[in-house]
Amino acid sequence: MKLYCATGNPGKLKEFRLAGQVLNIDIEPLPGLKSIEAPEETGDTFEANAVLKAEYYSRLAPGPLFADDSGLEVDALGGEPGVLSARYAGPAATDEDNNRLLLRNLEPHAGRTGRFVCVIALAQNGNVIKTFRGTVEGEILREARGPGGFGYDPLFYYPPFGCSFGEVEGERKFAVSHRGNALRLLLDHLSTPIRVAEKRAESQNL
Ligand code: IMP
Repeated sequence: MKLYCATGNPGKLKEFRLAGQVLNIDIEPLPGLKSIEAPEETGDTFEANAVLKAEYYSRLAPGPLFADDSGLEVDALGGEPGVLSARYAGPAATDEDNNRLLLRNLEPHAGRTGRFVCVIALAQNGNVIKTFRGTVEGEILREARGPGGFGYDPLFYYPPFGCSFGEVEGERKFAVSHRGNALRLLLDHLSTPIRVAEKRAESQNL
C-alpha cells in the first residue's frame, strides 16, 4: 500500500520514510510538494493544524495522504512552545534560535518535564478520515546533547534511554517517539479491516 505524506520538513520526512521501511509500507512525499503554496497553520491545537493540512493537501494527491502537526509541550511554560514549536523564536527561526529561546525561558524554572506530541490526520480527496495522536514524555536538558535528530531533539532527555533524542539513531528514536506512536496507530487502523476479515475467515474455517 502507498501512502502520501505532506511534510516539507526534511527531519520529519526522513523519520516517516524510515518507519515505512520498518513497518513495510510505502510512504512517499506528495509529488510536487515544494511548488505547492503551504496553507497557513491557523489552528490552536495540533489536531486542528493536522486536519487543515490533510484536507488541503489530499485534494492534490493521487491517493490517500496523511499530514502531521507536532511540537514540544513544556509543563513549566504552560505547554509552550506547543503549536508554535517551529516558529517559537519568530517566523524565520532556525532550530538553534528556538532551542536558545527555550533554554532562556526555562532558566527561572525548577521543573523541566515535557513531552513531544504528534497528531497525524489521514485524508482522501479533501475529506479527513481519522486523526491519531502520539506522545512521548521527557525532560528538557540545560544544554544540547548529541549531533543527531532535528528541532528540539538535542534538548529532549528521554529517561528510559538515559540520553537525549539527539544522541540516538533514527530507528531507536522512532520505536518510542510521538511520531512513531502516531504512525503505529494509523497503521493499526489501516490493517483493522484485514484482521477482521481474517478472523471471520478463521471462524468459518475458510
Ligand atoms: P510542524 O512542522 O508545524 O509540525 O512543526 C514541528 C516543529 O516541532 C519542528 O519544527 C520542531 O521544532 C518540533 N518537533 C516536532 N517533532 C520533533 C521531533 O521529533 N524532534 C525535535 N523537534 C520536533
